Amino acid sequence: MTTPYGPSYVRGIAPYVAGRPIAEVARQFGLDEARIIKLASNENPLGMPESAQRAMARAASELGRYPDSNAFELKEALSAYYGVPADWITLGNGSNDILELAAHAFVEKGQSVVYSQYAFAIYALAAQGVGARGIVAPAAQYGHDLDAMLAAIADDTRLMFIANPNNPTGTFVDGPTLEAFLQKVPRHVVVVLDEAYTEYLAPEHRYDSIEWARRYPNLLVSRTFSKAFGLAGLRIGFAVAQPELTDLLNRLRQPFNVNTLAQAAAVAALNDKPFLEKSAALNAEGYRYLTAAFDKLGLEYVPSHGNFVMVRVGNDDRAGDRVNLELLKQGVIVRPVGGYGLPQWLRVTVGLPEENEAFLAALEKTLATV
Ligand SMILES: *Cc1c(COP(=O)(O)O)cnc(C)c1O
Repeated sequence: MTTPYGPSYVRGIAPYVAGRPIAEVARQFGLDEARIIKLASNENPLGMPESAQRAMARAASELGRYPDSNAFELKEALSAYYGVPADWITLGNGSNDILELAAHAFVEKGQSVVYSQYAFAIYALAAQGVGARGIVAPAAQYGHDLDAMLAAIADDTRLMFIANPNNPTGTFVDGPTLEAFLQKVPRHVVVVLDEAYTEYLAPEHRYDSIEWARRYPNLLVSRTFSKAFGLAGLRIGFAVAQPELTDLLNRLRQPFNVNTLAQAAAVAALNDKPFLEKSAALNAEGYRYLTAAFDKLGLEYVPSHGNFVMVRVGNDDRAGDRVNLELLKQGVIVRPVGGYGLPQWLRVTVGLPEENEAFLAALEKTLATV
């Protein structure tokens, strides 16, 4: 036998399973694309803000040139918006890029990374990608158990990932609990606080993690333009951390990792407060609608703080895939979460009112027959 290519830790990676694209589902099930409803990837159901579309149209004439590697305008805008110096900001090709950069920047092969059971799948992939050992802390009520995470820290742990709210469970740890945790984490362990859904938090749940970044030199706050800001397809996210951490990410970052259109659109979206408010309000209303229907149907769900909710669709370990397939046949794409060890559940993104309605109708029909 010949020696296989690549390190064993790369060969051991199970590729990330993304939400199914509309065109693919249409082809597979012989459906009309226009009638398919995609509630599978936590995208903003309002689509891109018009302000961002206009900014992109203006920027399009510059596409013959490389993007601004330092994204001067966007960093100035972020700096003003979040009240941190520009050299505390790292831009990523989506926040996925940030998470991966963090693994490369802070962890050596053979060292360990701590994350929670049921946490965002990318954490395990990022750890594996650098040959690190992933340590999975047990969850509590499907969410992060920060004491269990502290207890999981080993001598060789250099990085922890926390998603708040978490995807796919929607669970949330309140600000004071999180800060008490930060106080206890050893300073040589970097904490990546992944806040992809923070713009959806109800006012009473908000906390100021950017302020924590000023006080905790080992904290890296990760945010994205993919969810509430409506720019998932452009691939842009960012991190806020003190210069010591930011400088390391910047050394590894590809110089042109964020393209010209994404930079222009992000500046516009950041300043489009009405769009953000509309997105959050639509989400809150849709979440209430969906969960009220789940209650009526007697379906268990995990209370969510994001723009999605995880619902239990059966009591056997094939239920998620079975119901998912029936929904696909009816042109409704949601996300099975068997890969997370939650085979009885589906994750559904909160959509437009008519999308939520269509999903519920398809779900009801499915549950009545299978
Ligand atoms: C969607 C999501 C992201 C963001 O991904 P992007 O690469 O920015 O599109 C990050 N973390 C979590 C937990 C997510 O659900």
